[in-house]
Amino acid sequence: MSAKNEVVLVLNSGSSSLKFQIYRMAGEETLLAKGLVERIGLKEPVFNMKRQDGRSIEESPQIHDHLDAIKLVSAKLTDPDIGVLASLSEVTVIGHRVVHGGETFHDAAVVTDEVIKAIQDCIPLAPLHNPPNLTGIEACRAAFPGVPNVAVFDTAFHHSMPPSSYLYAIPYEYYKDYGIRKYGFHGTSHKYVAEATAKYLRHDLSNLRLITCHLGNGSSITAIDRGKVVDTSMGMTPLPGLIMGTRCGDIDPAVVLYLMRQGMSVEDINKLLNKKSGLLGVAGIGSGDMRDVIEAEEKGNEQASRALCMFVQRLISYIGSYYTILHGAHALVFTGGIGENSSYIRARVVKKLAELGCQLDETKNQVSGKPAIVSDDRSTLKAIVMPTNEELMIARDTVRVLREARS
Ligand code: ADP
Repeated sequence: MSAKNEVVLVLNSGSSSLKFQIYRMAGEETLLAKGLVERIGLKEPVFNMKRQDGRSIEESPQIHDHLDAIKLVSAKLTDPDIGVLASLSEVTVIGHRVVHGGETFHDAAVVTDEVIKAIQDCIPLAPLHNPPNLTGIEACRAAFPGVPNVAVFDTAFHHSMPPSSYLYAIPYEYYKDYGIRKYGFHGTSHKYVAEATAKYLRHDLSNLRLITCHLGNGSSITAIDRGKVVDTSMGMTPLPGLIMGTRCGDIDPAVVLYLMRQGMSVEDINKLLNKKSGLLGVAGIGSGDMRDVIEAEEKGNEQASRALCMFVQRLISYIGSYYTILHGAHALVFTGGIGENSSYIRARVVKKLAELGCQLDETKNQVSGKPAIVSDDRSTLKAIVMPTNEELMIARDTVRVLREARS
């Protein structure tokens, strides 16, 4: 099968949800439909699907498990009224988002029993994410017999980091015996925007040094030297680095010890740092959503203002560090919900980067959700907005590794 004829079903399975997109990879790589099954195995599950032409459906059927969900998606994709496929046999391959590939997976992998075992071995590194990702894979193996599955890992793009970036300064045997090291996340997004930026700038990625900022509910920043990651801000888990919606990002690790000595349980500390911190914790307005925090600042809320100062400062200190690690960079790329849509946050960041040769163009920066250069023409470090598309990247990687495996 040539890549052109591939129809790829892209799945992102959570513990009670299943997001799907279906692509025809011919020519322009067309998204045929996308949708979501929510509340799998819970009361009142919800299914919705939207086609490329804008037609959509929403239903609340009984869905007991992921196999039910996959069967429902299959039925809707081939439904004579709302479906986008004449037959399920049109689906040539299924690409699955898998969060953690540990040190085993440097690239996406065609699913075999050995691959499943290796993903299972990574469960201790991502106990909340890898199990539902595996459930999705198993459900597809049952529902689509004979159709190959490919696992695409959030961590894989970061495998090129050198030990000086990925090791923590604790005794080496903790890395050797327990795999304690930086892995990095959002790799699929960083890879997509790096490739899209190179295309947009009409440069070869192999000639560019990029700093990519994925700023969403979760945020991370990556230094990319000629297509290879040299450092990234998330770590062994997605907790460190930038300040996020509800996650603290970098803090002194001894804070955890201190809280434990005060009698807080591991679970409570986990919740504090992952769910109650970040913009939510600092702004104190009951929301970690950037739009709400900006609105609160506009109304004069000092804590919200402080949260935004901290968010911007943390980001700038990483940009400065990565600029140095890369020996200078051609472009600083903004993506994710905040990076793509908030001209306000971009302006606050870029205005602090004059020393790096980056000057904001206020007019160009008014863009939202579209590729654009938002620095002025004199800037030696370009600031760029590049919308991410993780599902399309998964579809591309899926087709590529399947082709490589068959050749
Ligand atoms: P996720 O990480 O869950 O995929 P997104 O990438 O969709 O999240 O990003 C969500 C974040 O983007 C939220 O904090 C939201 O407030 C922020 N966001 C979206 N649009 C804007 C905007 N116009 N201005 C500021 N923040 C925005």
